[in-house]
Amino acid sequence: MSAHDAFVANRLAAFAAARPGFRTRFAPAPTGWLHLGHAVNAVWVWSVARAFGGRVLLRVEDHDRLRCRPEYEAGVLDDLDWLGLTADDAPTVTYRSWGPHPVRQSDRNAIYAAALAGLEARGLAYPCRCSRRDIARVVGEVPHAELRYPGTCRHAAVPPAETLARRVRMADGTERSTDLRLGEMVQVPAEQCGDMLVRDRHGLWTYQFAVVVDDLAQEIALVIRGEDLLASTGRQRRLAALLGGAPPDVLHHPLVRHPDGEKLSKSSGDTGLRDLRAAGWTPERVLGLAAHLGGLAPSPAPLAAGALASLWR
Ligand code: GLU
Repeated sequence: MSAHDAFVANRLAAFAAARPGFRTRFAPAPTGWLHLGHAVNAVWVWSVARAFGGRVLLRVEDHDRLRCRPEYEAGVLDDLDWLGLTADDAPTVTYRSWGPHPVRQSDRNAIYAAALAGLEARGLAYPCRCSRRDIARVVGEVPHAELRYPGTCRHAAVPPAETLARRVRMADGTERSTDLRLGEMVQVPAEQCGDMLVRDRHGLWTYQFAVVVDDLAQEIALVIRGEDLLASTGRQRRLAALLGGAPPDVLHHPLVRHPDGEKLSKSSGDTGLRDLRAAGWTPERVLGLAAHLGGLAPSPAPLAAGALASLWR
C-alpha cells in the first residue's frame, strides 16, 4: 500500500467504526457494455466493502430510458457474475437467477414522483419550459457539464400542465464536505448548475435526482465513484437536505484514462470486458489489472474476487 493509500485506509477505518455494516453501492447505467473503467470502480467498491465490513447494494441506473437497453443490463449482470462480484443485497446467490428483478430505477417511478410532489408542495420545485437551446441563448455555448441554468422560469409561473419538466431551486450558499480520499471540498451549487432539472420534458427523471432519492431510500452511507462525478457532490448534498435526508459520505477515486488522456468511454471496444473475456482473459486477470489501474495495487498481478480485501491490508 502506498503512503497515500494508508491515509485513505485510516479515514475508511474511522468511517467504518462510526458506521458499522455501512452500505455502499455499485450503480452502473446500462447504456453500454461494462469496460475497464467500470471494473476499476467495482474493485474500489467491493474491496472497501470487504475490507471494512460494508455491504454492497447493486442498483441498475436505467433512468434514461432512451439510452438504456435490456441487453446491456443483462450484459452488466453477467459480467459481474463472471468477475465473481456478488452484491450483498441479492436475494439469491447470482444475478442470473434474479430473473427480471434487480433493483432498477425504471421500476421506481412512483418513488421519484412522490419525492418531487413533496418538493412541489413546499414550493421548492417549479415547471420549466426552457429547452437546452433556450438556455444556450442566455448563457452561451458551454460544455454540458458547465451549464448553469440562468433561472428563466423561476418566476415565470409556467402552468404545470404545460410541461413535465421540473427544476428544484438551488439557494445560494456553500456545501462543505469531506471526501474520504480527496479531503475537504467546498462547492456552490447555485453557481455551478443553478436550479437543478429533476425531470425533463419527456418525463424522464434525471441522474442527479434519481441518484439522490435512491441513495437516501436505500440508506447508502458511502458513495464510491470516479472523479468525473466530483462536481456533483455539492448539488446532491443540497438535494438530499431538501428531501430531508442525511447525504452519504463520498469517496472519489482516480479515473482510468487512455494513454492519450481521454476518459475511457463505453464505446471504446478495446477495453470492454466482453472483448477481454472473448480474448481469453480470466476474471482474476481483469480484477488485477483494474486494481492496478485504480491505484490500489502496485502491479497488475491477478487477483481473485475473494481476495479483494487484501488490497487494504
Ligand atoms: N450511474 C452512474 C454511472 O454509471 C454512477 C452514479 C454514481 O455513482 O453516483 O456512471
